Amino acid sequence: LTIVCIVGGGPAGFYTAQHLVKTRPDVQVDIYERLPVPFGLVRFGVAPDHPEVKNVMNTFTQTAQHARCSFHGNVSVGKDVTVQELQEAYHAVVLSYGAEGNRTLGVPGEDLAGVHSAKDFVGWYNGLPTNRDLRPDLRCETAVILGQGNVALDVARILLSPVDILKNTDITQPALDTLAESSVRRVLIVGRRGPLQLACTIKELREMVNLPGTRPEMEASDFECIAKMLKVLPRPRKRLTELLLKVAVETPEETELERRNSAKRAWGFRFFRSPVEILPSDDLTRAAGIRLAVNRLEGEGEDVWAVTTGEVEDVECGLVISSIGYKSLPIDPAVPFDPRKHIIPNTMGRVQKCAGLYCSGWVKRGPTGVIATTMNDSFDTARTLLHDMDEGTLDISTVKPGSAGVTTILEKRGVKPVLFSDWEKIDSEESKRGEGRGKPREKLLDVGEMLKVAWT
Ligand SMILES: Cc1cc2nc3c(=O)[nH]c(=O)nc-3n(C[C@H](O)[C@H](O)[C@H](O)COP(=O)(O)OP(=O)(O)OC[C@H]3O[C@@H](n4cnc5c(N)ncnc54)[C@H](O)[C@@H]3O)c2cc1C
Repeated sequence: LTIVCIVGGGPAGFYTAQHLVKTRPDVQVDIYERLPVPFGLVRFGVAPDHPEVKNVMNTFTQTAQHARCSFHGNVSVGKDVTVQELQEAYHAVVLSYGAEGNRTLGVPGEDLAGVHSAKDFVGWYNGLPTNRDLRPDLRCETAVILGQGNVALDVARILLSPVDILKNTDITQPALDTLAESSVRRVLIVGRRGPLQLACTIKELREMVNLPGTRPEMEASDFECIAKMLKVLPRPRKRLTELLLKVAVETPEETELERRNSAKRAWGFRFFRSPVEILPSDDLTRAAGIRLAVNRLEGEGEDVWAVTTGEVEDVECGLVISSIGYKSLPIDPAVPFDPRKHIIPNTMGRVQKCAGLYCSGWVKRGPTGVIATTMNDSFDTARTLLHDMDEGTLDISTVKPGSAGVTTILEKRGVKPVLFSDWEKIDSEESKRGEGRGKPREKLLDVGEMLKVAWT
């Protein structure tokens, strides 16, 4: 039997495990996860009003319940056990630990109250234990989101959704209560470049366009010359741009006009703008606005970049959320890490210069792509590993202790893993708490409480 260890219980970890155990009867897989709960960003990233996306948890559950797969939560690799110790216990180790950091703006005022990363804000409404105490102050009219990708649109939608739409989702109760009291009426979604470089997908844009109680608020001048570019655009970009033009510049039909006129909340893209500084309130304690540089584009096609014109514009706002990207962090000094690309340097999932070490998911290729992209990428890594096994470049000649060896190490360090059956207790407690509120679950927000439920 070849025994493989996977670090990280998100989509990359589960899809890598799935491919290994399903295609080969001679492979056994153990997944180690930092948190007591599985599924990574499916639980802590995907928006609460996208329950259909979370159905992949059923597939992951089947994998975890497979006879040759096991889950060990509450184990932080790099801290509780080193990668070298895992390599000694297993024939191969796959690093699938995602992207737990975020890119910072690097502008003055970034540390003021009222400025958050999208990663923290999303973690807060999705119940990530480390973000439980974020308590964003939503007593302001205007929020500015920096970045125009799908995560930015998730945040905009959550800020502007009527709470009636959210109240039956798995959003945390504290987040729902805060949103119910929110004064935010206007969300501006800022991007460095123009409408043709908009980074979201059409599904997310359509959801914004159709969000009840909101109307779009765009600058018509941003769209000059865009219509005549349509015919040369590749198909997905063309469809996205057509929808954008329809919303931004076309005169709406009567029912849509009525809908917009009665809307109490507004959202809009601000193109050709980069953050220069977060402006403080008079008492210097919190954000009161943002200074944006006005840009123009240079270059052509998809390869255009923004250069500042020297002009700036100040926007009053009490909440700034930067959604300019997640980034992977090194977890163990023994593992090579590319500090520029923020990924583990690899060739088709083989960690460079480290026999027996592999990687998959966001830590392999960077923090972009949907779950389906992560799935394909993880299957590729699993294929690479199986290929090495068959070619003899992965050493499987010795018997390895696997989880028994790791458990001994963890016991000595006072770390007790949460098994999948323990997680199922947390899962059923969360479902039970959700039932009374008409929610699919009410997430436990505290690691201590999760462990208590898991082990009773
Ligand atoms: C806000 C947001 C919304 C998204 N919405 C969608 C969507 O609607 N649809 C869609 O298809 N895709 C969506 N995605 C993309 C999708 O979430 C990713 O493609 C996918 O989760 C990446 O998988 P991963 O396993 O590489 O990383 P993750 O999902 O981050 O999983 C990594 C896991 O590793 C664990 N870990 C970290 N460090 C350690 C350690 N030291 N030891 C052990 N374990 C560790 C983490 O706790 C985590 O569970 C969204 C992403 C974000 C950020």
